[in-house]
Parts: sequence; structure tokens; C-alpha cells
Amino acid sequence: IADGGSGTGHKDNKTHLGREKADRSTRDQVLDKRTEAIIEHMVRKELISELQGVISTGKEANVYAAPLYTYDDEAGVQTGTHYRAAKIYKTSILSFVDRERYITGEHRFRNGGHKGNNRKMVKKWAEKEFRNLQRLNRAGLACPYPIQLKANVLLMEFLGDSEGHAYPRLRDVELEGVDDNEIAQQWRTLYIQLLGLVRRLYHVCRLVHADLSEYNILYHEHVLYLIDVSQSVGHDHPQTYDFLRMDLHNVGSFFHRKGVDTLRDRTVFEFVTA
Ligand code: ADP
Ligand code: MN
Repeated sequence: IADGGSGTGHKDNKTHLGREKADRSTRDQVLDKRTEAIIEHMVRKELISELQGVISTGKEANVYAAPLYTYDDEAGVQTGTHYRAAKIYKTSILSFVDRERYITGEHRFRNGGHKGNNRKMVKKWAEKEFRNLQRLNRAGLACPYPIQLKANVLLMEFLGDSEGHAYPRLRDVELEGVDDNEIAQQWRTLYIQLLGLVRRLYHVCRLVHADLSEYNILYHEHVLYLIDVSQSVGHDHPQTYDFLRMDLHNVGSFFHRKGVDTLRDRTVFEFVTA
């Protein structure tokens, strides 16, 4: 596991000292013995070469840039670096009860037997995210391609440039244009793109994101990518509509703040579900 190295530009890790401190604390929290063994296994299988900088430290998971180095064995030189993203769910979570409500009522994961066992719970969440990402991919929605899942470690396609810088969250995007009018038009176009995404998510994947906001959407060259789908629910969940309304309201108010003349909540809800 790389110490420091070329960071991935996470806000909290700007200073060298800050990064070291963050790395140490996240490692203590997340990488317990079993998790370290999983990472080592992934390195041996040449899925990744190491864990590099922390992209994000969250309540329930940390996301790392995980480079895979390619070599020219004959010449004995490194020929390139291919980045992947490793989302490592924390196994020491006490507040998982909160997430229970997402699981209960859903056929795919209707199983009360995991209460009180963090490691199993966390594994369920990682598994849910992995399967949901597969569903999104099959439907052709823009999102990370899921590569491998092992217990609480989810390896997926890295959404970022070839140097290991992740694409920005929609929250942090500053669109460029010749004038304000053109920029406003671009935000409008993204708004429409997102409604189309949510609609396909609903009808083709038969899922509602359930934590949709400008924080769980990445942006690159006019394309929006959906991420963080561990809590997404199917149509069989009793609160599907509540979550959908909440999702649409969240993103609606974000685009409204960006100056988009957004549609009324009811209209958007009808568009997505019709
Ligand atoms: P959390 O549950 O902590 O919110 P997320 O799945 O939203 O976890 O990931 C946290 C952050 O990590 C995202 O906001 C994004 O910046 C980054 N991230 C997540 N997945 C990827 C990925 N596949 N490629 C690049 N960056 C990612
Ligand atoms: Mn998130």
C-alpha cells in the first residue's frame, strides 16, 4: 500500500502532512487484517498493483485509486499505468441500522439474519452495489464498470484521467463556454440528460438510486456518470416512490440553483415513471 505518493487531489489531503495523517487514520479504520489480505490477493492476481491515494473518505466507505502497472518484461521497464478504483467498505460501522430500511422489503436481500453482524452486513452492501452496477452496465447507463468483488472490497473501473485524477463530482463542475448564455444552455442540457438517466434507471434497470444528488454524479466531457448505488432499491421496495421523489427533488434543486428553469416535481415524477 503506497504511502503518500502522487495524491489524487482530495480536498482534505492538500498538504503532505495532512495526507499522511489521513492515510494513517483511514488505514487504521478500513484496512483490517482481512481487508489487507484481500488487497494482497488482488495484487497477486494482477488486478491492481497497489492502493494509491485516497480519492474519498466517507462514513461507510473509502475510495482509492488503484493503479495497475504494465511492464515490458524483456526490456525490464514499466510501460504504462492503468487506473482502477477500489471502494473499501468499512467493517467497523456502528450505524448500519440506518441503512437497514433500504434492505427490508426488498426481495433480493430480504434476510433479517445479518443484523448484529457488521462484517456480513458490510458484505451485503458491497454485493448490492456490485450487482446494481452490473444492472446499470447491462442497460448501457454511464457508470463505473464493476470488475471484482471480494467481501468488503469492490474493484471497479476508474472514472478519471490516465494520471489517476478522478472526474469531478457534478457539485464541483465549472462549465466553460463563450458566454453565460452558452453555459446556462449546457446546464439545461445536463438536466435533461440526467432526467433521461433516471428514467432509464427506473424502467430498464427497474431501480431507484435512492441517494441521488450532485455528490453521486461524476461529470466528464458532457457526460454524467451515476455512482454510489449500494442503497439503490428495486420496484418491490415499499418506499420506491418516496426515494424517487426525494432523488428528483434533490437534483432538481441543484439544477435550479444553476439557473435552469426546472420542471415542477410532479411533472418530472410523471416523466420518469410514465
Ligand atoms: P460514499 O458512499 O462514500 O459516498 P461513493 O461511491 O459516492 O462513496 O464514492 C465517493 C467518492 O469517490 C465519489 O464522490 C467520487 O468522487 C469517488 N469515486 C467513487 N467511485 C469512483 C470511480 N469509479 N472512479 C473515480 N472516482 C470514484
Ligand atoms: Mn457518495
